[in-house]
Amino acid sequence: MDNFIVSARKYRPASFDTVVGQLSITSTLRNAIVNHQLAQAYLFCGPRGVGKTTCARIFAKTINCQNLQPNAEPCNECESCKAFNTGRSLNIHELDAASNNSVDDIRGLVDQVRILPQVGKYSVYIIDEVHMLSTSAFNAFLKTLEEPPAHAIFILATTEKHKILPTILSRCQIYDFNRMKVEDTVRHLQYIAQKEGVTAEEEALDIIAQKADGAMRDALSIFDQVVNFCGKNLTYAGVIENLNVLDYEYYFRLTDLFHKGDVSGALLLFNEIMEKGFDAANLVAGLGKHFRNVLVAKDPATVQLLEVSARIRERYLKQAAVCETGFLYDALKIIEQCEMQYKVRMEKRLCVEITLIKLCQINELKKKI
Ligand SMILES: [Zn+2]
Repeated sequence: MDNFIVSARKYRPASFDTVVGQLSITSTLRNAIVNHQLAQAYLFCGPRGVGKTTCARIFAKTINCQNLQPNAEPCNECESCKAFNTGRSLNIHELDAASNNSVDDIRGLVDQVRILPQVGKYSVYIIDEVHMLSTSAFNAFLKTLEEPPAHAIFILATTEKHKILPTILSRCQIYDFNRMKVEDTVRHLQYIAQKEGVTAEEEALDIIAQKADGAMRDALSIFDQVVNFCGKNLTYAGVIENLNVLDYEYYFRLTDLFHKGDVSGALLLFNEIMEKGFDAANLVAGLGKHFRNVLVAKDPATVQLLEVSARIRERYLKQAAVCETGFLYDALKIIEQCEMQYKVRMEKRLCVEITLIKLCQINELKKKI
């Protein structure tokens, strides 16, 4: 089979309404455009792979569109839009400060700022990973940022807002991008799978979204990877095998065993997991996360904090109905103790086994009180 490349590039959003998971930001930017209230400098903050550069590019394209639609979407037909869509627009300048962070790099950019745009109204300068600029480069840039020409708009992007100097922060309109929610990621992957003729179980996409941990770009590259491995039919079993992820099922089964107080069952299941080559520390961390999920599933007020797809949510709700809150608090405490001891204990496996035994004893000890 040919290498299958969907990837971030092919499905990069080209208008605000196709950006995933950043609704408040895209609508604020859209409103600013409609009301002609553009700032000259923006700071886009947030984790990697959540659409900061994508939004910056859409913004640049939109404000230069010669035939802006009433909903503040670019027309995609005018000269400027066409130039943007084929990547040859002269209205957009991108500098990756991670690899170009010297004074000379910034001077090169600052020199360009004075030049008026040929087509469209604005020249947009996107500086990615702006926190990586050297102090002297920052200083060279500050002057331009203080007194930019009317046609210049700066969009600075960073994953580390705390590293940005206050003098820069005070001159920018700041937008905080969210990490991607699992449900949003799953929905977007479903859309791409459908476009690419890939059938995918929802649980399989859930695992990809969990693994990507809030970054859409990572989710798309993991999606490519598993399609290359599993072919055009993504099953839950295939994906967890390919990504070496421990099946949710194990956490549900272990928790049932703890709740019943079945020490032998828990130790044997732990052995089975170890024989599959999983890391004991990951299992302990996974159990902590699992108990937390069961706990939030118990209360209708917190169930929204459960970041899993619909079918796995059902499983959590079921387990939450069986496990008492007190049981879950104790279980979380035991996991916390284990994580502290694990680092210093020589006998890692024994450390985890003692933890499993303690978890199985929670209900028994409660009866005695
Ligand atoms: Zn246009």
